Amino acid sequence: MAYNISCNALFEGCAFTASADTQEELLQLAAAHATEVHGVTELTPEIVEKVKGAIEQS
Ligand SMILES: [Zn+2]
Repeated sequence: MAYNISCNALFEGCAFTASADTQEELLQLAAAHATEVHGVTELTPEIVEKVKGAIEQS
C-alpha cells in the first residue's frame, strides 16, 4: 500500500508525481515540490486539503 499524488490535479499541466509509504511523507514531498516549482510559500489549510483530496492509494 502506497500513497500517490499527481501534481496535475492541483496545477494543471504539471507532470510531477510522487509516492510514499505514509500520507505525512507524501505531503512533505508535495510541499517541497510546490515550494520549488510553483512558488507556493505558504501551505494554507485550503492547499493542504486540496493536496489531501488529490492523494490516491494503491
Ligand atoms: Zn507541480
